Amino acid sequence: MNKKFIQVLKKDYPEFCFKLGKKFAFRPPKTIILGPDEPYYELLSLHELSHAILKHRDYNLDVERLKMENAAWDKAKELANHYRIKIDEDLIQDQLDTYRNWLHQKSRCPSCGLTRFQTPDGEYHCPRCEAFIKLS
Ligand SMILES: [Zn+2]
Ligand SMILES: [Zn+2]
Repeated sequence: MNKKFIQVLKKDYPEFCFKLGKKFAFRPPKTIILGPDEPYYELLSLHELSHAILKHRDYNLDVERLKMENAAWDKAKELANHYRIKIDEDLIQDQLDTYRNWLHQKSRCPSCGLTRFQTPDGEYHCPRCEAFIKLS
């Protein structure tokens, strides 16, 4: 496994807590979950580490989440250069596409298919259906 690489990260970032898990994730504020061994292990680890470095927190707005994912990948690229890890743009775009699709699916109104908007409380609203409710 990539034990050596993880040891380096632990040494460079003693303020964070690295744990092994089923999949790569970041648990605010300081816990980085490292997934199973796979070809992009280093890059995915750096991505989760980037969320921690950038102090990402919970979010209400899904568009904010997409911004965080972009920012975390930018930071991960910087770290990859530092640790001399190969950057795979395809992997990064695939990962971002997953979020883009997820956002698209989530924002679609289940009744009429129109793109809904999200208010700061995290609720989605359909401009067509909700206007209709108000009128009736
Ligand atoms: Zn992420
Ligand atoms: Zn609707």
